[in-house]
Amino acid sequence: MTAPEGRPDHPTGSVLCSAAEKRLQSVGIEGAAGDVRALFLHALTTALGRPVPRHALRDHLAAPVPQAVVDAFARMVAAREARQPVSQITGRRAFWKHDFRVTPDTLDPRPETELLVELALTEGFRSVLDLGTGTGAILISVLAERPGVAGLGVDLSPAALDVARQNAQMIGVQADFVLSDWFAVISGDFDLILSNPPYIAESEMPELAPEVREWEPRMALTDEGDGLAAYRAICAAAPAHLRPQGRLMVEIGPSQGNAVAELMRRAGLADVTVCRDLDGRDRVVWGRKAGLQST
Ligand code: GLN
Repeated sequence: MTAPEGRPDHPTGSVLCSAAEKRLQSVGIEGAAGDVRALFLHALTTALGRPVPRHALRDHLAAPVPQAVVDAFARMVAAREARQPVSQITGRRAFWKHDFRVTPDTLDPRPETELLVELALTEGFRSVLDLGTGTGAILISVLAERPGVAGLGVDLSPAALDVARQNAQMIGVQADFVLSDWFAVISGDFDLILSNPPYIAESEMPELAPEVREWEPRMALTDEGDGLAAYRAICAAAPAHLRPQGRLMVEIGPSQGNAVAELMRRAGLADVTVCRDLDGRDRVVWGRKAGLQST
């Protein structure tokens, strides 16, 4: 038995976890069992003051749980019951090849956004700009794959920029982060411009899961309009900030492919392409600035 034991009259991890699972199920949370395991591990890690690996879970489930862990776990389950996302409670979310710190000031990196990273890496580039960088997940993931590339992330949220800086440092990637409303403070041009901007129409906000609608930063989700405002701003200004043959590549909502492709064409970009994610839904649109590449 490697688990530090609570007093023998304390509940075991299994008893605590089954009760927590029932509570989460009763408020309609899907995947409650997995959430409970993640939160129990995080409660152990926090209260015991050392990382507890997943493989130690079995021992901890069988043993009486120390009071500090019982208390930490109760707080975390209550937060989840109030629909806070697991990633915000644990402060971590896995994306591409790394774990990222997330807070209520940042959009959770989502698996479908990995398509943007994958497509970005299909060509070479020496400089990359990420507009609305949030946790920095997109920028840091592509930079980690391309040592020596210059990376700049901008965001309108100072709190998000702090998180992005912490992630870059934690993952060991060199990048600059500045406060900017899209291109407002950006001079110079780039081989690659990436963005996962707010694209949910204001009218669609009520349909979102409470985890997203009530806990994630609203400014990262919606433009408070038709969901296309960010693309209008980004597409119009991108050609002036792209090197010849440079690419603009953005994540979109599944119904926005045609509209965003049209915005890119109207901005003068060539090779405009709409790409589908693993669920078969339109997810990324990209275009290329014409002209001769300088060497
Ligand atoms: N993909 C996110 C969602 O559906 C939205 C993120 C965004 O607007 N960029 O919740």
